[in-house]
Amino acid sequence: MIVKIYGHNHGYDFRNIVSVFLPVDQFQIVEENQLSGTEAVMVGCCPLLAIESRLIHTQTEATVETKLLSEDQVLLTYRETIAVISDKVLLKRNIKRRLVRQLYEALRTQLEPLSKWGVLVGVRPTKLCHEMMDQGLSDVQIAESLRDDYYVEEDKIQLLLEICHLERPYIYPIDESRFSIYLSIPFCPTRCLYCSFPSYAAKGREAQIEAYTMTLIEEIKGNCEAMRGKKVDTVYFGGGTPAVLTPNQIEKIVEALRAHYDLSGLREFTFEAGRPDAINDDLLKTLKALGIDRVCVNPQTMDDRTLHIIGRKHNVEQTVKAMGLVKHHAFHAVNMDLIVGLPEETLSDVRRSIESVLALKPENITVHTLAIKRSSRLNRERGDYELPSEHLVADMLKTIDKIARAQGYVPYYMYRQKYMLGNLENVGYTLPGKASVYNMLMMEEKQTILAFGAGATSKLFYPAEDRFERIHNVKSLEDYFGRIDEMISKKNIHLALAP
Ligand code: SF4
Repeated sequence: MIVKIYGHNHGYDFRNIVSVFLPVDQFQIVEENQLSGTEAVMVGCCPLLAIESRLIHTQTEATVETKLLSEDQVLLTYRETIAVISDKVLLKRNIKRRLVRQLYEALRTQLEPLSKWGVLVGVRPTKLCHEMMDQGLSDVQIAESLRDDYYVEEDKIQLLLEICHLERPYIYPIDESRFSIYLSIPFCPTRCLYCSFPSYAAKGREAQIEAYTMTLIEEIKGNCEAMRGKKVDTVYFGGGTPAVLTPNQIEKIVEALRAHYDLSGLREFTFEAGRPDAINDDLLKTLKALGIDRVCVNPQTMDDRTLHIIGRKHNVEQTVKAMGLVKHHAFHAVNMDLIVGLPEETLSDVRRSIESVLALKPENITVHTLAIKRSSRLNRERGDYELPSEHLVADMLKTIDKIARAQGYVPYYMYRQKYMLGNLENVGYTLPGKASVYNMLMMEEKQTILAFGAGATSKLFYPAEDRFERIHNVKSLEDYFGRIDEMISKKNIHLALAP
């Protein structure tokens, strides 16, 4: 199939929408300036089908038109004309929404969508739902709009409404005097098959991890003046596998935070310990003594065969043992991560995994759908692994949802990623009163998050404009050590302009 674009530049959005119906190698998006007299070669599925999308703009009106053609015969035409208004941002948004809708309508006359999310192809579909709640729309009106304007299917609409209602008391009212801190620890015991994160093998890098700790502390100190007068809302140690740090290194980092930032109003402090084999009693005692109240233990699956396939050098027994230790220290909440869609896993493997995880009584469970990222080993060696079908992955998610809900867990945050199997989603479940505030803030982007460490991204929130700005740290360790001053001052410059 070929999609030709005239008069607008929404090729990127169109690619995302067509990929809701077809794999990327089955269609081609061609912009006007690429047509240049010679027709592009038609590829993949439905070679005789073409879509032409046109925007004709005059001083007073904009006409949005989509034609579905087969062998140059017009099968269908959609056309809408809207008046030009002075609010250019709103006008642009209206035009884009109509172009996307017409494209989606044309496609669904010929093809079945591969996703239940309609035209919501972004990472954070909850944001739209929150936006409608902010405008005062009722659940019925929101559901109607998600169904009719965005083509979202019923079960996903209900998921969005449920999550947004749960999140709102944690996110609103927005308090500009509070911000969160993220600390990136980019070291892991081994590299997972599906990993695309720039993490380094911890083994043999003890001196480098120590140097990293000191550089991280330098960065923490370097941005503190810009945050004077503000309180830290949540702190999150993520990675990577933060549990590769020694107790002494963790203490030094937390001391630096306490010395340079106002942690008196801290709502939660999370340490994503990560691999069960990296968790021990000394580590947990240290976390507890430092006031850390949330810990994450990430088994990903409770199947030893799968753990071996995905390159995690721990087993189920170690997860059970790690959870025993964690529970002994009585943290406020423990999160466990699972991934569905892992190579060679069946529905009964997944059912066993969730039941085994529930038996360990974590307060939170985050269920990820496998995403095959471009830079992962899984992507390079994809042919060597048998992955479950999209329908099976959807069934796995449904099974987990049913079992978790039956034990009192409810979904409290969600997001989507590119390259996810079945165009599905990641969902965090919680027991009542145990939801992770950081996860919700991170997803909804309603608070500044100051991020430290290699590969970390700070997000500065501008409430008046309801927008945020990303500031990326460098990813490689070499650059991180060599360019630390530059990263500190880049953040300081942006923070000086932020509210
Ligand atoms: S634990 Fe996470 S960051 Fe570390 S290798 Fe595995 S996927 Fe990558």
